[in-house]
Amino acid sequence: MKSWTTQKGSKIYQVLGGRSNSYLISAGNHNILVDTGKLSAFTRLNENINRLEFSCQDIEFLILTHTHFDHCQSAKRIKDQFNCQIIVSDKAAGSVKNGYTALPSGTNFFSGLISGSGRRIGKTRFGYESFEPDVLIEGEYKLHRNDADIKIIETGGHSPDSLSIIVDNEIAVVGDAMFGIFRNSVLPPFADNIDDMVKSWGKLLKTGCNTFLPGHGSEVKRQLLQKEYDLFVRNRNLI
Ligand SMILES: [Zn+2]
Repeated sequence: MKSWTTQKGSKIYQVLGGRSNSYLISAGNHNILVDTGKLSAFTRLNENINRLEFSCQDIEFLILTHTHFDHCQSAKRIKDQFNCQIIVSDKAAGSVKNGYTALPSGTNFFSGLISGSGRRIGKTRFGYESFEPDVLIEGEYKLHRNDADIKIIETGGHSPDSLSIIVDNEIAVVGDAMFGIFRNSVLPPFADNIDDMVKSWGKLLKTGCNTFLPGHGSEVKRQLLQKEYDLFVRNRNLI
């Protein structure tokens, strides 16, 4: 299982890969799960967590980087079974009650077509069991756990409710604010507002993090993100 360790000793494990990634942040005795993947991956997620030196019962918080179905479909089940608190953006409050978050727009012609047909299908295929969040994030939220410094910041653009988790100012778990699928680009195929997303990249670069762990694909290094940020700021006439 892939894992990362910060200089302060916080560990991040990739507990789900393939279609969607989930990560487990372990700082001191505290464990935070980030995203759940699809419901069909629940057993695999559960087994992978149990393979580590702790059990699912030790999960204190579930943070959702955003509430598209492929990131939160097991949220209700995990909350019920493991009795953890769910943290989401305040902008997701309506969607999670309803059990459906609108699919994002495409960032190119083909993903635009996929997005259009997905939106027509809607909740029946891309919904999730509704759940009650415990903490709604607006702005910035600090979770101090022993010596670890864990911050949650808003990184909207892919969706209005997108959040990133900054661990010890070294590693960021970023959901779909960027993709780790393509070698020379971090642009997700889907995003509601590209300009906002580029501004979120700038925000993430300001944290000083060197490694960015996306919701799909593998880690993105600072150098690539900086290159993409500079390019998009120039091409889109952003400040
Ligand atoms: Zn998404």
